[in-house]
Amino acid sequence: MTGGLDATHDPGLRSWVSSANDAGTDFPIQNLPFGVFRRVGRDEQARVGIAIGAEILDVTAALRARIYHGLAEAAAAACGAPSLNDLMALGHEHWSALRQQTSEFLRAGGGREAANAARGDEVLVAMTSADLLVPARVGDYTDFYASVHHATNVGSMFRPDNALLPNYKFVPIGYHGRASSIVASGTRIHRPNGQTKGAADAAPGYGPSKALDYESELGVFVGPGNSLGEPLPIASATEHMFGVCLVNDWSARDIQTWEYQPLGPFLSKSFATTVSPWVVTMEALAPFRVPAFARPAGDPPPLAYLSDDADRERGGLEITLEVWLRTQRLRDGGAPAVRLSRASFTGMYWTMAQLLTHHASNGCNLRPGDLLASGTVSGPSKDTRGCLLELTWRGSEPLSLPDGETRTFLEDGDEVIMRGYCEREGAARIGFGECTGEVVPAVGAG
Ligand code: CA
Repeated sequence: MTGGLDATHDPGLRSWVSSANDAGTDFPIQNLPFGVFRRVGRDEQARVGIAIGAEILDVTAALRARIYHGLAEAAAAACGAPSLNDLMALGHEHWSALRQQTSEFLRAGGGREAANAARGDEVLVAMTSADLLVPARVGDYTDFYASVHHATNVGSMFRPDNALLPNYKFVPIGYHGRASSIVASGTRIHRPNGQTKGAADAAPGYGPSKALDYESELGVFVGPGNSLGEPLPIASATEHMFGVCLVNDWSARDIQTWEYQPLGPFLSKSFATTVSPWVVTMEALAPFRVPAFARPAGDPPPLAYLSDDADRERGGLEITLEVWLRTQRLRDGGAPAVRLSRASFTGMYWTMAQLLTHHASNGCNLRPGDLLASGTVSGPSKDTRGCLLELTWRGSEPLSLPDGETRTFLEDGDEVIMRGYCEREGAARIGFGECTGEVVPAVGAG
């Protein structure tokens, strides 16, 4: 199993990029997440960059400046593409070499600092002067349902006497999502139109959703895939994971309620899914690997193909996810966003490795750049619920905002801001940046 600690994780490291040393930055030198960017106003091809403080290291420019050699040079050569797929396909040894040499180049102290810092103008781009794109060409997108708290809450709303279905503790439940509508953070989200039928309605109608929601999730990008017909053993699942991003699985609850039986969500989800621009690598997350969720006494153990000692000991991820809301009125008044929830990924019933292994267990081939989302990350208490459906209990308990507004579901003009970060004694804090989207009126409305 890969994922040990090395010099790149040393919490004492500092960078000559001064903004990377700011307290609270999501992108210190210990993080080095990957994304795809293009400078604003330039007619140029998008390419891979690495976030460092408030800057982006242009990997292609760094390659030209000859800062890489060996496997890292080959990995950097894959970064000229307008997506991370080529880099994702190379595998752990290449990713690790690229991380190692990038860390050495950006490091403060040592004999090379002055010479490296002198190349800053050549290889750095200010994040404020770049457009950040969807980081990978996602061939297939799958959404799981790995929080037992979320599944129990949602189940008890829709089936009060039968909240958790009998397969939940055996099967990592998921469905095939839509890859074409995965959008970059910051993309405005049109309220979807769809077919709905209220409980009191004699017949369904078609129009803008009246119950638009977000879902706070994490997504893992697949690195090297598996051949069709060949399952992925759980012991090697981590080697097939490139890294993790924030995911907002926008959901129209009224469309979902009417359409979901018997084949699951369809148009209630496929109108848009927002991803954060920065992919935090599994290697950067190594200091935050923790034991997998401990199943309560009486729960069945996972079947053998989903069971692995190393995964039980280190398959959890200590990542905190927050959801913030900024309404049109808050924005107009210059007021800040309001935090709606904060949850820990450590409470997830299934590990990322179990999701990946289960996905390939029938021989389904995963490919570099495929995105596997976790499902809504909710914990046991109300302030840890990762969607409005749960926070407002299907609209029956409206949220009150500090300015007197209330919400059951999202209104036009609402901006949803998701944040994620890792904090742990003895490790440098790293973050995911933001995953944002503003709701705008339905096409054809008004
Ligand atoms: Ca979801």
